[in-house]
Amino acid sequence: MRAVKRAPITAALLLAACGATLPRIRNVNETPIVQAGTPVLRSRAAEVAAKGVATPATKALVAKMIDTMRKAPGVGLAAPQLGVGLRIIVLEDRDDLIALLTPQERGERERIAFAPRVFINPVLRAIGDARATFFEGCLSVNGYVGLVERHHEVLVSGLDENGAAQTWRVRGWPARILQHEVDHLDGTLYVDRMKTRSFATSQEARLRYAGKPIAEILKLFGL
Ligand code: ZN
Repeated sequence: MRAVKRAPITAALLLAACGATLPRIRNVNETPIVQAGTPVLRSRAAEVAAKGVATPATKALVAKMIDTMRKAPGVGLAAPQLGVGLRIIVLEDRDDLIALLTPQERGERERIAFAPRVFINPVLRAIGDARATFFEGCLSVNGYVGLVERHHEVLVSGLDENGAAQTWRVRGWPARILQHEVDHLDGTLYVDRMKTRSFATSQEARLRYAGKPIAEILKLFGL
């Protein structure tokens, strides 16, 4: 998931905005993240077989996913976003990304920094009925955001890259990231769940909504 932030327009964003001329010339610095329209993003990813979990190939893929997520920068990535149809997700939130939000935005979103987490064959279940709606973006729908309602708290279980079973019960922004990334494994993008009339370019959303309380934003959309 894209790190939704208040940062000024970056070179990457400008490049994305100017990228209308096709075909683009690929270079070694170009991100390996595939974009909406690529069939792998609309397919159900396959379970990683037990014998394939703790292999060098899987570990290398996980390392590439974490590296790609950090460079983007993002707070989550699913294997299909690298063109690999396997049920693997990674997520991480960092103080330097969280610092781009106002204290109120941080509090409302329940953003907390956490070290990289890896879930292979994740199974997600909602805890309780509470829901939260915020803007979110996706590294595979580059340059846009939309308001998405998500469960406030979830429990996720799966394996890490060493094959160790793990569960994580979490609320707030990490719960949102988990739902976004597990959706990727089922071929679902946030645009399928968003309040469609809230769809905006990242730049417009930043100009119009950054720093505003979420209650005010929701009111603008009649939500
Ligand atoms: Zn995404």
